[in-house]
Amino acid sequence: MNSATLPPNSLFDDLVQQDRQYIWHPYSAVDSPAPLYPVERAEGARLHLSDGRVLIDGMSSWWAVIHGYNHPELNQALTEQVDQFAHVMFGGLTHKPAVRLAQWLVEHTPDGLAKVFFSDSGSVAVEVAIKMALQYWQSKSQTSKHQLLSLRRGYHGDTFSAMSVCDPTTGMHHLFNQVLKPQIFSQSPPCGFDQTWQEHYIDDFRQQIETHHETLAAVILEPIVQGAGGMNFYSPVFLKRVRELCDEYDCLLIADEIATGFGRTGELFACNHSGISPDIMCVGKALTGGYMTLAATLCSDKVATAICQGEASVLMHGPTFMANPLACSVALKSCQLLVESPWQARVANLAATMKQLLAPCASMNHVAEVRVLGGIGVVELKNPVELAKVQDKFVQAGIWVRPFGKLVYIMPPFVIEQADLIELCEQLVSVVAAIHD
Ligand code: PMP
Repeated sequence: MNSATLPPNSLFDDLVQQDRQYIWHPYSAVDSPAPLYPVERAEGARLHLSDGRVLIDGMSSWWAVIHGYNHPELNQALTEQVDQFAHVMFGGLTHKPAVRLAQWLVEHTPDGLAKVFFSDSGSVAVEVAIKMALQYWQSKSQTSKHQLLSLRRGYHGDTFSAMSVCDPTTGMHHLFNQVLKPQIFSQSPPCGFDQTWQEHYIDDFRQQIETHHETLAAVILEPIVQGAGGMNFYSPVFLKRVRELCDEYDCLLIADEIATGFGRTGELFACNHSGISPDIMCVGKALTGGYMTLAATLCSDKVATAICQGEASVLMHGPTFMANPLACSVALKSCQLLVESPWQARVANLAATMKQLLAPCASMNHVAEVRVLGGIGVVELKNPVELAKVQDKFVQAGIWVRPFGKLVYIMPPFVIEQADLIELCEQLVSVVAAIHD
C-alpha cells in the first residue's frame, strides 16, 4: 500500500475533531466540514502527516519555505539566537540580527531602497507602505494626494488599507464597503509575461493616472506576478511603463514583493525583470525561509527624509514585536543561504520541469490555460474546483496542493529533489485529469 493511502488513525482523528471544536482556519467557517490534515513533522519538501502518510509539498507553505522544512542551518540560527535572547522591544534598543538583516536587504533589493521598517506580517508591511506614502505627501503639504491606484486582480493582504487596494470584485470590498477607503483601479495588465509588447497595453493605466494623479499618493502593485488575485504573469515592459508614468505624474510607486521576492520568479526580486526601482517595497513570506512571521517595508532616502521633515517628523508606526530577534536571525540566515545557493539554476529547473510535465493539462477540455514562470506552475481551469473533494484526491495521490477558485497551482521549495518534483507534477496532472466540469 502506498504510504499516502494508509487509513487514518485515532491521533489524526482526535486532532481533527479537537481542531474543529476550537479553531478558525483561513477563510473558513467554524462549522466547516472541509478536510483537515494534521502534520506531525516536515523535512525538505515533504510533509509527514500524523497518520504516517507522507506528502510531497507543492506549496512551500504559501510561497514561504524556499529552503525546505527543518533546515539544519536555519534551525541553528534560531537556537543560537534563543540562547542569547528571544525578544527585546525595538523602541530605544537594537540588536545585531536586525542591523545585519536590514543591511542585507538594502544591499540586495533594487537600487535606491535605503531604509527598512520591520513589521509582523505581509499585510502590516502593506499598511506601513501606504502610511509612508500618505505621510510623504502630508509632509510636502500636498494633502490632496491621499488615494492609491491599484490593478484589478491585485491582492495585498487582509487588513483594511490592504483590502482597499485588492481587486474590487473578487476582493472583500462588498462586505466592508462602509469602512474601506475608495481607491482607483486600472485594468489588470492585458499582456502575458512573454507576449510581444504593444504600447496600447498601458492605455488604461495611463488614462487612470492622467485622470487621477492630483489625488494619487501612490501606485501599488505586485510586480510581474499577480498572485492570490489570479496568478497572472505580465510583461516586464508594463512595469517599466508604470515606473515612467509614476515619475511623469509625480506618484510614488509601491512594489508589493511579498509573494514574488527571494527568487521565486527567476529574479531575486521581480522588479529586476524590468530593471526598475520602486520608491517603497514590501517583503515577507520567504524572508524567513518560512520559519516565522516577519515582513519589512523598505523606502528610498527621498521618502524617508520627507517623512522625517514633515509635521509628524516621525513615521507613525511601531509594533510590539518589531524586528523580533529570532525572526531576524533566521531571516538573515535564509537570505545568506539563498544567495550562496545555486538558486537561479534550481528555479530554472523548476520552470523547465513544470513546463514539460504540466503541459498535458493544456489539452484537457476543462482546462483554460497552463502557464509557468520561474518556480510557479499554474493550471487554470474553466470552472472553480470543489475544494473539499479535490483536496482529498491530492492527498490520496501523495502530494500537497491547495487550489483556489479555478486555479490549481504549485510553487515547490527550491530544494525539492528532482524525483519528487516529477512525482508532484505527474500526480497533479492525473488529479486534474479526473476533475470533471
Ligand atoms: N501581499 C501579497 C502579494 C501577498 O501574496 C500576501 C499574502 N498572500 C500579502 C500581501 C499578505 O501577507 P500576509 O498574509 O503575511 O499578511
